[in-house]
Amino acid sequence: MESTGRYIYEFEYGEEDKTFFDKDYCLIHLDQYLAPGGYSWVFPKEKGKVNIGLGVQKRALENRNKRYDKKDNLIGLIGQYVKMNPVIKNPILSTDENDMGNLEGTWQVPVRRHNDCLVANGYAIVGDAAWMPRPIDAGGIGPAIYGSVILGKVIATAIKNKDYSEKSLWKYNVEYMNTYGYNMASFEILRKYLQTLTNDEISYGMKNFLSQEDIDDITRRQHPKFNKVKIFNPIMLIKILTHTKLASGLKYTSSKSSKLIKHNLNYTDNPEDFEKWQKELLNEINEADIRFNLKN
Ligand SMILES: Cc1cc2nc3c(=O)[nH]c(=O)nc-3n(C[C@H](O)[C@H](O)[C@H](O)COP(=O)(O)OP(=O)(O)OC[C@H]3O[C@@H](n4cnc5c(N)ncnc54)[C@H](O)[C@@H]3O)c2cc1C
Repeated sequence: MESTGRYIYEFEYGEEDKTFFDKDYCLIHLDQYLAPGGYSWVFPKEKGKVNIGLGVQKRALENRNKRYDKKDNLIGLIGQYVKMNPVIKNPILSTDENDMGNLEGTWQVPVRRHNDCLVANGYAIVGDAAWMPRPIDAGGIGPAIYGSVILGKVIATAIKNKDYSEKSLWKYNVEYMNTYGYNMASFEILRKYLQTLTNDEISYGMKNFLSQEDIDDITRRQHPKFNKVKIFNPIMLIKILTHTKLASGLKYTSSKSSKLIKHNLNYTDNPEDFEKWQKELLNEINEADIRFNLKN
């Protein structure tokens, strides 16, 4: 779970700096000091208005506070993030009546893969209740809507057939996985890996190991392949050799991603085989946790 908070502010424009505010783009900052284990964001709204906030992982925040001898919490970090933004001057909570009741707050967002099984006899879960947000960016609106449409159709058939058993609802598991959910486990691995990196490693990786193809993949909500760390030309070889831990970690997440996607696209049609399918999934995830030193 990520603890998140955000504000809808009206503000006066300070300096122009598109790395802190861009009227045409949503900005995300990956910064392990300001948003340990999460990220911070500046989303433009209409002129002079912004949605600004950040999310942190509890354990990462505790480690960061220990490391820097700080006692920061979520609200304090959002305050620092707003203050350091050179574009946003004199922010005040929005006065627009359409924003009333939605001006500021803190909430939790799940960032693991969705539940391995979404149904039981007479029972189904969807959206945040089923941990559906994408583990890499906590985007949960798309999966919630997508999952709801599939579930709605499956329930309509169940009502028609007067059969509300797990077996009758199972189609929802299979269809959600085949069409939308198949890459969530691999995003969970990528998220866990990114959380182990320092700011310098993230910046170096973004500049040197991320290709246009990877950016296109991320934009299409697909897992990046990090092919650059697999190409051995002299310049790339030097970059890889001077950053072996980073390069091999990216290569590992890419190959683990292919395995997990393949496994998820093989989701079982038969509830009786679920346990076997899940065991194989957990083995893959467990292996990654050991590799990233996440097992206590
Ligand atoms: C700060 C923040 C920023 C986010 N930004 C983004 C973003 O930019 N893009 C994106 O895609 N996602 C974003 N998300 C995630 C996204 O908001 C959620 O994943 C999404 O809203 C989940 O939809 P849902 O319908 O499953 O749950 P919710 O939106 O939480 O809806 C559940 C509803 O059920 C109601 N409810 C709860 N208990 C009961 C009860 N007992 N009886 C009746 N009603 C009940 C609640 O009041 C609520 O209205 C963000 C989340 C947070 C916290």
